[in-house]
Amino acid sequence: MSGYAMLPTSSHEGSSAYAPSPSSSHRPSSPSSPSALTRARTALHARLSNSPLSSALDSLKPRTVRLGAYALAALVLVSLAGLSLRSGTSGAAGGGLRLESPLAGESARSQWGSYSSWADGWLGGSRAGTGGGGGAGGRSRAQNERLLDPPLELDAKSGLLMPPEVYPAALNPFKRANAAFVALVRNNEREAMRNSMRHLESRFNRRYNYPWVFLNDEPFDDEFKKGVRSMTRSEVHFEVIAKEHWSYPSFINQTHAAEERQKMVDEHVIYGGSESYRHMCRFNSMFFFQQPILENFDWYWRVEPGVEYWCDIDYDPFVFMEANNKVYGFVIALYEYRRTVETLWDVTKEFARLHPEHIADNNAIRFLVDEPGKGLQDGEWNNCHFWSNFEIGSLKFWRSKPYMDYVKFLDEKGGFFYERWGDAPVHSFAAALFVPQEQIHNFYDISYRHNPYSTCPQNRKLFHDNGKCECYPENSFDLDGYSCMRQWWRSAGKPAYYE
Ligand code: GDP
Ligand code: MN
Repeated sequence: MSGYAMLPTSSHEGSSAYAPSPSSSHRPSSPSSPSALTRARTALHARLSNSPLSSALDSLKPRTVRLGAYALAALVLVSLAGLSLRSGTSGAAGGGLRLESPLAGESARSQWGSYSSWADGWLGGSRAGTGGGGGAGGRSRAQNERLLDPPLELDAKSGLLMPPEVYPAALNPFKRANAAFVALVRNNEREAMRNSMRHLESRFNRRYNYPWVFLNDEPFDDEFKKGVRSMTRSEVHFEVIAKEHWSYPSFINQTHAAEERQKMVDEHVIYGGSESYRHMCRFNSMFFFQQPILENFDWYWRVEPGVEYWCDIDYDPFVFMEANNKVYGFVIALYEYRRTVETLWDVTKEFARLHPEHIADNNAIRFLVDEPGKGLQDGEWNNCHFWSNFEIGSLKFWRSKPYMDYVKFLDEKGGFFYERWGDAPVHSFAAALFVPQEQIHNFYDISYRHNPYSTCPQNRKLFHDNGKCECYPENSFDLDGYSCMRQWWRSAGKPAYYE
């Protein structure tokens, strides 16, 4: 999707002008009061009896499992009660507030606040260095006494007593977004796809159960289907892309396209000679969100084979996007290989002249143009873009008129085939120009790797001292000279909690 083998041009170095941190409105929630405990209890009871959780629990078979799951749900209640009580004395953020209003404005931040109290209290005080008396990562006797004895059932076949099974997603009572993972992938990438799923399932989705959608220009074979099914307990969909979404439109001069490809081959441009790569980029730019299966969803998380996640993701990024009115979420921003998109900036400027109504006020032009005081029409593109192999985004945005007008305009210019336009710069220009920049979100708390770059959150207290992450903050690509985070922070400000 982008020329990550390229070096940055030195003129970009040292051009940073970090904006100050965002406003102080994002504070952890206030300490809980005694009544927060009662409110939390009531809220959880209500959720348990009248929520997707209860139907999820009801659907669990056999009875032993169901019973066990209810017991565990009760256990969660007791744990939260304990948390509220403790936080009352320690002054930490209260879990009770979170329970009552998981989608309220401050929820995402207050979760972070309360995370450390979970870590201190329940994941072993010694880990967080607070000397909580839990021993080496274990629970204290007092903590254990607040927990329920598991209901044990005699297994008839083995004659053994079985503790309840614990299904993390069934125990997660919080409302889900209408969302799915989406992966365009080839049959021969099965094992790499399974690796991506192993990371995402263990770090996040085993507690959320979002479905997986696999797209391919050819039918998936049985080994692929079996292989990826075995990686998740969620629903899995396999879809073949319609031919017209993966072929040359009639207005493309294929002889000219072949000549231009040959030039790129001669210049050793990565994927320069590949037709399939161009179909892939055009598909990801124009068609992925138009697949019939995705009509049922509002949000997607793009996943490629062979990517890795190195921190637990302990909140729902889709719900975060929805609650904060975000449109596009990224992790890595970097310089594009200009040879592959030689005319894309000029074509985009032309589009903006024809459709000024599609350009948002307060857009993220400062991310795309370095020269102070210059804008979309008189500024030179600095080659910065969001790396689209990771995206958490709104499908509605891609289906909107501004974006549909834009990609149709681009397609008719032929650059997907005469050059090698990537979906990453196309998505990036659209996100940066058609929506206000505050609707774009950098998930700096998600540790992500797509070869050869990886990110790792910087804040050691929130991400490292507590066992949440297994990555090296000092090696994060955010700090690399080839990263465009300088430009992003210049445009959007550095996030609260970044360091
Ligand atoms: P890079 O990240 O730019 O090096 O490109 P990738 O080879 O990772 O391709 C980007 C995404 O498109 C990945 O999810 C690939 O699995 C997928 N992809 C690339 N080419 C094809 C193709 O010909 N068919 C299918 N079905 N998927 C493809
Ligand atoms: Mn890739």
